[in-house]
Amino acid sequence: MAVQMKCRHCQQSMGSIEDEHRVYDIIAQQPLSVEEQHDLMTENEEGQKTLNVVCEHCEEILTQNPNLFENDTFIH
Ligand SMILES: [Zn+2]
Repeated sequence: MAVQMKCRHCQQSMGSIEDEHRVYDIIAQQPLSVEEQHDLMTENEEGQKTLNVVCEHCEEILTQNPNLFENDTFIH
């Protein structure tokens, strides 16, 4: 089953990835601890996996407003 990708901040869907190995590559590239990497991927009762990443738009906002990193979600 393809892994859905969505922005962890604005919940915007960023498409899906068919190849799960590619997903682990993406996770490995994130500058996060192992525990945080575990939180990146969530799975619901139906076995649908979702990769919680940061979209380009939110990344830009966070770069300009580093204090927003303190909040898990915000509205834009
Ligand atoms: Zn976003």
